[in-house]
Amino acid sequence: MSMKPSTLRIGRRYRPGRLDPAYDALVIGSGIGGLTTAALLSDLGWKVCVLEQHYTAGGYTHSYERNGYEWDVGVHYIGDVGAKTRTRKLFDYLTDDQLQWAPMDDEYDRFYVGDKVFNAVAGKSEFRDNLVAQFPAEEQAIDRYLELLAQVGGALSMFGMARVLKPWQKTVAGPYLKWKTPDFIYRNTYDVLSELTDDQDLIAVICGQWGDMGLPPRQSVFMVHAMIARHYLYGGYYPIGGSWKIADYIIPKIQAAGGEVFTYANVEEILVDDGRVKGVRMSDEHVIECPVVISSAGVDNTFGHLLPAEVVSATGYDRAIRNVRPSIGHLCLYIGLKGTAEELGLPKTNFWIYPHNDYDKAVADFRADPAAPFPVVYVSFPSAKDPEYLERHPGTATIEIVAPAPYEQFEQWKGTIWGKRGEDYESLKSDLSERLLEHLYDKLPELRGRIDYFELSTPLSTEWFSAYRHGELYGLDHTPERLQEDWLTPRTKIPGLWLTGQDILTCGVTGAMMAGLLTVTAMAGAKKIGPLMKRIYS
Ligand SMILES: Cc1cc2nc3c(=O)[nH]c(=O)nc-3n(C[C@H](O)[C@H](O)[C@H](O)COP(=O)(O)OP(=O)(O)OC[C@H]3O[C@@H](n4cnc5c(N)ncnc54)[C@H](O)[C@@H]3O)c2cc1C
Repeated sequence: MSMKPSTLRIGRRYRPGRLDPAYDALVIGSGIGGLTTAALLSDLGWKVCVLEQHYTAGGYTHSYERNGYEWDVGVHYIGDVGAKTRTRKLFDYLTDDQLQWAPMDDEYDRFYVGDKVFNAVAGKSEFRDNLVAQFPAEEQAIDRYLELLAQVGGALSMFGMARVLKPWQKTVAGPYLKWKTPDFIYRNTYDVLSELTDDQDLIAVICGQWGDMGLPPRQSVFMVHAMIARHYLYGGYYPIGGSWKIADYIIPKIQAAGGEVFTYANVEEILVDDGRVKGVRMSDEHVIECPVVISSAGVDNTFGHLLPAEVVSATGYDRAIRNVRPSIGHLCLYIGLKGTAEELGLPKTNFWIYPHNDYDKAVADFRADPAAPFPVVYVSFPSAKDPEYLERHPGTATIEIVAPAPYEQFEQWKGTIWGKRGEDYESLKSDLSERLLEHLYDKLPELRGRIDYFELSTPLSTEWFSAYRHGELYGLDHTPERLQEDWLTPRTKIPGLWLTGQDILTCGVTGAMMAGLLTVTAMAGAKKIGPLMKRIYS
């Protein structure tokens, strides 16, 4: 099997000589959280330097090419962009209206639950009627569920607002925000749903997208379940031209203000002097001085590795990070096929394949025994979703199969080099790939014999390329406890250090992008943020 290296790379290669002598802010990490923060600050006149350790910019929104195929790594579908919503307006603003979206099929998610098949269809009333058609006896429960989703919408704004308040403002506004926030949003998803219905299949369908946040219903927080359900209520969309286009369109905004997005730029340490941030030390030992550092590298990296340990313990973050835990890792089988999506009959529908309707038990069984069935297998058809894919890769198609994978199952190879981890690792990957392929052939038997190329990523690949040290899929786990940790905010106790990205709000491209907006809101203050909001949302 010949292996051509990926050529799809964006951002400018880091060299100390290419740095400007004085930046207004440094951003660690070029995921959507970091880029949103950098672009909005640039819009306010800041000169921002984004430092990305990977060979390309975009974090989980990056794409890569190999052997004539191209895959996204962390963007399979995005909701809420089919109309001029707040989400869409922010994407439009950041990308100068260049990013366009292609709708998926009306049936954007299909759930195979044991031997039963259910689905989610686009549109609030269509979604409702379709669910009622599948569960006619549960009409009341379904309507009550949709009411809860609506209530969570209001609560989410309160949640976001609470994240940007200064400590004294929190003291004043805290009781009001608490009063406006219904308690059920912090309960676990299963408990909330089981008060509406005892139909376990209905609960399974309502939670059919649990893989979008990485936790099954008895462990996840209802707020994030509801946020995701609301996000996709009007269907799924795919960025035209591929997910890498998101970063590609945002970067010029940062450059226009004199800033830059550097790749191969690994930050080794956040420098703190006399309690204040002073800049960063790169892994080549070069020091970049700057009084403002924004970390979009994740909470675990920031407090567990990038800050000096004595600073972390003096500020109490060493105790705080013990209350949160990394999410589970994942496998992704990247598949290339000769023939177009149309010729091969590939749908613009995601498949979610479950062994049965008790998702929590399936996860527990799998964690206890890796040979147990995968608790979920997710199949996505990216080339079918992107109307421009064939312009870049004529006559081909792609598929991605994702499944959970605890990091511990791969830990014995920690520290080995990507592509050179040894025969036993390759043999495990080969077994896992075959298991995943069987799920695909079970649903689309006509694809047997049509696959030209595949390669499997593991949690070690996530660690290698995305610098998540536990190979975590979604940053911090979305438990009820995590969502109530009030230190997970843009503002930190260390003057000059700010946080952004998925860990301070929720995972998802939109969650991390909104985190960027929150960070800039907290940094810029009311006077500057008002006009910026007007520009974005007018
Ligand atoms: C398999 C998978 C599928 C997904 N599917 C979807 C989907 O369909 N829809 C959706 O909305 N979301 C999806 N997500 C989630 C979404 O991609 C993420 O939640 C979001 O992109 C996270 O953005 P971020 O900016 O917070 O972090 P990231 O994109 O992870 O960016 C963090 C960046 O920091 C860099 N970094 C870390 N340490 C350092 C350092 N020391 N120095 C320099 N740089 C550093 C990393 O290299 C990385 O690029 C998916 C994620 C995965 C993994």
